[in-house]
Amino acid sequence: MTGKVYLVGSGPGDPELMTVKARRLVDEADVVLHDKLPGPEILESIPEERREDVGKRAGGEWTPQEYTNRRLVELAEEGKTVVRLKGGDPFVFGRGGEEAEHLAANEIPFEYVPGITSAVAGPGVAGIPVTHRDHTSSVSFVTGHEDPTKEESAIDWHALADTGGTLVVLMGVGKLPMYTEELRSAGMPPETPVALVERATWPDQRVATGTLETIVDVRDEEGIDPPAITVIGGVAASRGRVEAFLQNGRNENER
Ligand code: SAH
Repeated sequence: MTGKVYLVGSGPGDPELMTVKARRLVDEADVVLHDKLPGPEILESIPEERREDVGKRAGGEWTPQEYTNRRLVELAEEGKTVVRLKGGDPFVFGRGGEEAEHLAANEIPFEYVPGITSAVAGPGVAGIPVTHRDHTSSVSFVTGHEDPTKEESAIDWHALADTGGTLVVLMGVGKLPMYTEELRSAGMPPETPVALVERATWPDQRVATGTLETIVDVRDEEGIDPPAITVIGGVAASRGRVEAFLQNGRNENER
């Protein structure tokens, strides 16, 4: 009997932000395939003998996607119940789409289990609503780190600047200088508020704020590292208005 694969979103990292279904599936699975993005607390809650890390390997290399795909099929063909646990939502920049297609092509039954995406929750825990009636009626989710084998950027930063809406950039720590410059050259005002939310909902969550002009320096001074969300637009200034009463940060490191 072929097993089944669940493509499960873990949410941004706080174990209490996993769905009830995600928690149950993780607890019942024969094997959980994961990377580091679900965060330390969720990963530690899974017994080591039932989990396999398919994220960064010891040498700093990524496990090839082909290996993960093959492993999912192999385990299901052994009759196992497999959870492929992904940070946030599996279908938001998580390669969940590729895995679903690979499973279907190999006739493996699978189920998608949505999770709370960091693209919305990351700004939110910093006091930043991704939409706000007074500031913006649209939001774009963008990757800051495209497939390096692509010759030209598929992202039209000028068109994104023209939307006038909130921009939420995932995987956008390294390329921050590139796209803040692109947005400025597209005419986005240098004083546009920007926030970086590092390890949102993890025990050591940090938030750093600045403007399109200053945020690269802020990133460097604060030493902001991935995983972090960049949120650009008028809504990022909301933080300043609610911060004094916002209780989401779990430590004192916030700026
Ligand atoms: N599927 C995930 C996104 C995967 S892409 C989701 O829906 O959240 C990986 C990127 O997600 C990271 O580079 C970072 O930009 C973002 N990310 C995921 N979890 C995060 C967290 N807890 N805090 C901040 N950023 C996070």
